[in-house]
Amino acid sequence: MNPNTLENYWMPFTANRDFKADPRMVVSAEGMHYTSEDGRQIMDGTAGLWCANAGHSHPLIVEAISSTAKTLDFAPMFNFGHPEAFRLAAQLAALFPDPLNRIFFSNSGSEAVDTALKISLAYHKARGKAGKIRFIGRERGYHGVGFGGISVGGIVANRKQFNTHLPGVDHMRHTHDPDRNSFTRGAVPHGAELADDLERLVGLHGAETIAAVIVEPVAGSTGVLPPPQGYLQRLREIATKHDILLIFDEVITGFGRLGKATASEYFGVTPDLITFAKGVTSGTIPMGGVAASQFIYDAVVENSETPIELFHGYTYSAHPIATAAALASLRAYTEEGMFENAANLEQAWGDAFHTLKDATNVIDIRTIGLVAGIELSSRDGAPGARAYEVMKRAWAKGLMVRVTGDIIALSPPLILSEADIGFMTDTLREVLAETA
Ligand code: PLP
Repeated sequence: MNPNTLENYWMPFTANRDFKADPRMVVSAEGMHYTSEDGRQIMDGTAGLWCANAGHSHPLIVEAISSTAKTLDFAPMFNFGHPEAFRLAAQLAALFPDPLNRIFFSNSGSEAVDTALKISLAYHKARGKAGKIRFIGRERGYHGVGFGGISVGGIVANRKQFNTHLPGVDHMRHTHDPDRNSFTRGAVPHGAELADDLERLVGLHGAETIAAVIVEPVAGSTGVLPPPQGYLQRLREIATKHDILLIFDEVITGFGRLGKATASEYFGVTPDLITFAKGVTSGTIPMGGVAASQFIYDAVVENSETPIELFHGYTYSAHPIATAAALASLRAYTEEGMFENAANLEQAWGDAFHTLKDATNVIDIRTIGLVAGIELSSRDGAPGARAYEVMKRAWAKGLMVRVTGDIIALSPPLILSEADIGFMTDTLREVLAETA
């Protein structure tokens, strides 16, 4: 077997055959840039996969990872602990809105979602409401790839290839309404009434059967869909009225993506549980988790009939190296004002991307925080092909973007400058003009 073959790696969420015929490889990264295998500088328009919020190879994070690898390579977290895990939990509790001050660690966003769903079930059971086992998700939601996540998620392709998912899950309609909301910034003006879908599903199934509703405050992976103004507030009210836990999946929106620590803070709506991952370590080491409201923890822990209160956990929960990376990331975010930089640039970011309104084949642009979605018209009979070509052409010109269907998504490291924004929009304008 040729050791240099590309055959053996079964790549995730990738057109394997197409990639292997013409690979796009990166070999190093620093700040806003990757270096490609052929030695070119590629601006990271996507913070890796929405995660490298502090920029690449940040010295504080690199140092924390390497020194921890030398001092504490692993620590078991079942019945043992290491102090830094508790320190990190305390810092995260301070970062998340009150009363979300109990932190459970996982290793990814998908695991965070499964954890939040299971905590919801445990919470209701602990209060004698064991019949509340149904989950409500939303069309066009992405909550990772565990069976819980694909069940509450609303990406059709992620579900139908596997033909089975959790029973007892229902979905609200998505909030994407280009006829009323195209080319908008921030929360979109129309559609708050779509939150009433939750009320409708309560009517259909009965509140006594519903454990939790989960949404991304801004849907990322399905093409950057900011919520309608007032929508999240309305969901909050309906969930509270029916004793349904509200979960915000902040795997993308957490850690400064919208210029605040969380989207909850940005929109002024506090859920009962927040899932996080990605930016918690600036993408350097896998880590995720759930911030739970104290009343949820108290109900599960105080009503427990067994010494172990929650039969759930991962070998690598609060892994020492991931913990060190997270503590260093939080320090970098604070000391270098990265969330503030993101907030300060939101206006310039929106201004720059909305100038692409008249670029070739563009049918919608949506911006919020440091996220942009540029939607293209689809080629006849080949949905997604046009944006995929844009992604490849942008790579050739030194810009990494992400595509989903015919939507180009950008979500750069939070350390970017106005000049970087200019490079991104200039490159995209050129590439769009060249893409038939
Ligand atoms: N939830 C949301 C909102 C996400 O965007 C993602 C990943 O993009 C996930 C969950 C899954 O995270 P992971 O890929 O770390 O499992």
